[in-house]
Amino acid sequence: MARNRYSGTCYCCGTHTPVGYGHFERHGNSWRIKCVKCASGRVVKDTDKEVIRARKLANKSREENNYERNQ
Ligand SMILES: [Zn+2]
Repeated sequence: MARNRYSGTCYCCGTHTPVGYGHFERHGNSWRIKCVKCASGRVVKDTDKEVIRARKLANKSREENNYERNQ
């Protein structure tokens, strides 16, 4: 399951979930976030590979959006 590229609130426990600290789930026509703790019971740290990767992807998609806006 892919990590979240946008921060949000976990729909299970209501905790704020920063980028990489949760998973995206398809929910109807949109997406919802489930934190890793609810999904697998693991505690995520800033140094986790998956967090670093999700942050990189989040920055990349932000850059792409800026690029499109500037055209
Ligand atoms: Zn949760």
